[in-house]
Amino acid sequence: MLDMNDSERGAHIRRLDRKHVFTSWAAQDVVEPMPIAGALGSEFWDYDGHTYLDFSSQLVNVNIGYQHPKLVAAIQEQAARLCSVGPNFANDARSEAAALIAAQAPGDLDRVFFTTGGAEANEHALRMARVHTGRHKVLSTYRSYHGSVGNSMVATGEPRRWAAETGVSGHVHFWGPYAYRSPFYSVDAAQECERALDHLANVLMVEGPNQVAAILLETVVGTNGILVPPDGYLAGVRALCDRYGIVLISDEVMAGFGRCGEWFAVDRWGVTPDLITFAKGVNSGYVPLGGVIISERIAASFSTKPYPGGLTYQGHPLACASAVASIKIFQEEKIVEHARWLGTDVIGPELAKIADRHPSVGEVRGLGVFWAVELVKDRATREPLVPFNATGADAKPMADFTAACKERGLWPFVHFNGTHVVPPCTITEIDLRRGLSILDDALTVADGYY
Ligand code: PLP
Repeated sequence: MLDMNDSERGAHIRRLDRKHVFTSWAAQDVVEPMPIAGALGSEFWDYDGHTYLDFSSQLVNVNIGYQHPKLVAAIQEQAARLCSVGPNFANDARSEAAALIAAQAPGDLDRVFFTTGGAEANEHALRMARVHTGRHKVLSTYRSYHGSVGNSMVATGEPRRWAAETGVSGHVHFWGPYAYRSPFYSVDAAQECERALDHLANVLMVEGPNQVAAILLETVVGTNGILVPPDGYLAGVRALCDRYGIVLISDEVMAGFGRCGEWFAVDRWGVTPDLITFAKGVNSGYVPLGGVIISERIAASFSTKPYPGGLTYQGHPLACASAVASIKIFQEEKIVEHARWLGTDVIGPELAKIADRHPSVGEVRGLGVFWAVELVKDRATREPLVPFNATGADAKPMADFTAACKERGLWPFVHFNGTHVVPPCTITEIDLRRGLSILDDALTVADGYY
């Protein structure tokens, strides 16, 4: 590699990657992983001299932006001191990270069970709920993503669940609120809230509320379209859980740590779940980390029975040191407040103008730095620009729109018929406006299919 120029190095990495690395989409040639040479702030670049403004944050992950110098320094400092220690030992990074995370969490959510990512966090939250209640069933919504292993995959509502669900029982899916495509034919958000709660109450009745261990919800649905729940919905779900002794798990793997302009998205509605799962934004994925924040009430119930589960890399010093540094940087640089402001004063108003200009935009919605633009073939019928779960030729309109963004130097996050606006929470106003104007321009390609 030493005697190669940048471009040859990029081609070499691409060849090795294609031959030896297996990822879900690359195996089918749906995505050809582009070698990234470096990144800083809200941008990354390849080996051929192309720089991209990142409107995806690497799967809604790098909330703090790339290569934050203080975060990099904290990892280096920890690496020089102590890299690896097992979960049955305490280490200063782990205890400080847990204390800082608990301090931001609502109510009596004071204990942290560390994992190495979001799927593992949901896996353990579900097991905790099952052992705590002695019940088996889990309810989650159709339009959801909770991770790609075991129970978290089956709890996922969207199509990635299909190949995994045989053999894992006890998962029931229901409809969450989604006013734009209301499963309940609602005319406004208040009606959607009321009908979605009635629907959930009915599902509980037929499933047997005393059989249900947990309701697992993304506080704001992420990958499947940034579905912000109507006011009153989460409080209504909380009330149903209280009535039947069901554990409420808020999956904040994507929505947490500043993404929604709050430390945790539940803060916006003042609702306290029993368990919160987190990953991604806790340290922007600089080192793999996730976890479950547990209420004192549920933690206390394990003082008389053991919790069956642990992980070798639980509370890993490098990961926890990066979480400590990240949370402190968030506080010092007021990143949560910045994310909230970007949503209310820049993204919301600008996307509203973009929606007016482009017939293919059916709806824009979101909060903080967590927005979706939903594309349609027809505004009156709301027919999606591409069919649900489309691949190949059927997905061409979204593929062309994606290519148009990339040609213009913007890296988008596209899922089904939507594109997300999810840059790092630290993005500057100037870069954000630049990205929105590229998006505006690229949407003319989508309009061509309208
Ligand atoms: N939960 C949500 C809401 C997610 O968006 C994701 C990943 O995108 C996960 C869980 C799974 O996290 P991980 O990929 O770290 O296992």
